[in-house]
Amino acid sequence: MAAVSEFAGEVRARALYGHRTAALIARVVILVLALLLALVLTSQSRADDGSRDEPPLPFTIGGGLTVAALGALTLVFRRIQSLRAEKRRLEERIEGLSDHTWELKEAEERARSFLEAQGDVIVRRDGNGRITYVNDAFCALAARARADLEGTAFALDVVEDGGAAVLPDGTRVYDQKIATAEGARWIAWREVAMRGGPAVRPETQSVGRDVTDRAETERALADARDQAEAANRAKSRFLAMVSHEIRTPLNGILGMAGLMLDTSLTPEQATYAKAIKTSGDTLLSLIEEILDFSKIEAGKLDLEARAFAPAALVEETVELLAPRAHDKGIEIASYVDDRVPAQVIGDAARLRQVLLNLAGNAIKFTEAGGVAVTVEPGIWPDEVQLSVRDTGIGIAPEAQARIFREFEQADDGATRRYGGTGLGLAITKRIVERMGGSIDVDSIPLGGSTFTVRLPLPAAADAPSSFVAPKLDGMAVLIVAPGTVESSLVARRLGAWGASTAVMPNVAAATALLPERDWDAMLVDHALGSEAAESLVRTIGTTCARRIVLITPGERHELPGLQAAGFTGYLVKPLRAASLAARFAGDGAFEREPAADEMIEAPLVPTPGTPAGLTILVAEDNDINALLARALLVKLGHRPTMAKNGALAVESWLAAQVSGVPYDLVLMDVNMPQVDGIEATRRIRAAENQRAACRTPIIALTANAFDEDCDACVTAGMDGFLPKPLDRERLEAALATVRPAASLAA
Ligand code: ADP
Repeated sequence: MAAVSEFAGEVRARALYGHRTAALIARVVILVLALLLALVLTSQSRADDGSRDEPPLPFTIGGGLTVAALGALTLVFRRIQSLRAEKRRLEERIEGLSDHTWELKEAEERARSFLEAQGDVIVRRDGNGRITYVNDAFCALAARARADLEGTAFALDVVEDGGAAVLPDGTRVYDQKIATAEGARWIAWREVAMRGGPAVRPETQSVGRDVTDRAETERALADARDQAEAANRAKSRFLAMVSHEIRTPLNGILGMAGLMLDTSLTPEQATYAKAIKTSGDTLLSLIEEILDFSKIEAGKLDLEARAFAPAALVEETVELLAPRAHDKGIEIASYVDDRVPAQVIGDAARLRQVLLNLAGNAIKFTEAGGVAVTVEPGIWPDEVQLSVRDTGIGIAPEAQARIFREFEQADDGATRRYGGTGLGLAITKRIVERMGGSIDVDSIPLGGSTFTVRLPLPAAADAPSSFVAPKLDGMAVLIVAPGTVESSLVARRLGAWGASTAVMPNVAAATALLPERDWDAMLVDHALGSEAAESLVRTIGTTCARRIVLITPGERHELPGLQAAGFTGYLVKPLRAASLAARFAGDGAFEREPAADEMIEAPLVPTPGTPAGLTILVAEDNDINALLARALLVKLGHRPTMAKNGALAVESWLAAQVSGVPYDLVLMDVNMPQVDGIEATRRIRAAENQRAACRTPIIALTANAFDEDCDACVTAGMDGFLPKPLDRERLEAALATVRPAASLAA
């Protein structure tokens, strides 16, 4: 357009110039003619004076002037011709420009129709918010004519504001719900500042897109998700309730079976009672799993961050599982790398749960060979890598990702054979991920499986090591064992301490190797058989200073014979690193080490130091649980009084206060009809305040594992919890902290 106006100016200038030239020429011609006329008149007057023989001057001048006039006329013609040519050229140019203008108009029209066809709403406003431009879509949205909008500060009717953000390029994006004649529409706006100097407020251009469908779908999805989450929470709560309900009668079964096993039974009766207890234990662990899962689902998994010794945790867990492995005739062993910190910060209980699950599965799915649990430093600082390797049935590649999902098992046929809920690995994975770690599996069908857990477990400051690693440099150790799991781990450990080791699978191979060198120590697995072990120790004789036999706890009765055969010491499988170190650091006498299972069969007598003869009020509505609690307390030498609900418990407590012989302790079931444990506790605490009486310790008996339940107990004024089923050790530990009321009064 600028070119067109420039050109129009040029045409005007040229026309003006042509006009002026023509006027000038016309004046010259008039002047020449006037001169001619004057000369003719002068010559006429002279002729009248009689001077006839003089040259005809007028004619001379007239001729000259005529020539000049003709010259001027020629010039005028030429000029007219060039102006005509110029005019033609200009006309052509005007034609070209009008074509160009038409094309521009076409393009503008096309751009406009393209813009409108987008369906986007466009509005421009000046710095004062007045509309300078709107497109048809905006007019339609506003239900107004363009003329009614432009120049006004019209604003759409916003009923709700959605999210807003500013993009890195300065574009403001925001959503608005606009009320329109056809109902509310969600518009997603993109707003940019258009132009304007520092003094001028910039124009803004807002382009809006109707995203009603998308927004509504998102809303529907969010609603559906909220509902699903609510349903999930309700489901978890329901699961927790149900498992609690199942645990209550189970407490009775387990407790009574335990009590029965403490009485004198015929061998047959003892077998039946043990079967009841074992089945009950299995059922209880199943319920624990379901409860755990529902807790994790409900997002109630709280982790602790305390210092613990990873080596002890792994060795204890492996020891706990060893009877199960030995019963199946397979091995289980652990190896904790010396580079792993002696103490780390984390949640020991949850890590034990992870380990129990993985190693428990490994035992379950292995029929020959064994299970190795190893702990090594990970690839990142503060990372610990825990591997559970087995020589079991393996997992098909297509099942490997699936088994980490809840209720999934690798194959149904095997499931029927091995049992299980398919929840263990789902729980394990969630715990591990909650701890900030990862878990994966590497397995081939029939070739065993390795589950690897990587966890961030920072080292605790100034943690002392549990034992001093012996220096075995230059020492030759022969290990003879039919299995490869424990022997290879023992060899690895001795190797790490500096010894050179040889592992032989049987007596023949070991005997063949004996003359090869001087052996400083020999470790013989009793799994070879007593005879084989004894013959081997006799063959090597006293040239080898340390002759150690490896036994299971159940083989302890063989020790006298083994000692007589020439063994200088023994180690109980699965081996602890500290015990192995002690054997190599010791003087070679036939040492005894306390074995884990020696502790288990503790007689039912009060542990020294725990108070005896406490008067204890037990509030418990369930008859069987009440019977169990009563029997346990009586056996431990205390005097229980039973109350069937919270109200009766408060009454009984008050009566004891009034009579001057207050209870030493109250064991309060939390869930009771009418007045529950929480309310009863509140009433007791209120009465104590009123009477300025001494505080009676109140311990909650609860099968609820949710933190908020525990919080409610503490808030009501309880001093501790005892989980159900009531367990002898835990009960004793709780009672150990109680001071008799009489001594307090004194
Ligand atoms: P469960 O053992 O109760 O069935 P898990 O979630 O612990 O549930 O395990 C899921 C499935 O993964 C098991 O049913 C089994 O098919 C497979 N699995 C787990 N560990 C092993 C293992 N060490 N060897 C072979 N299969 C395994």
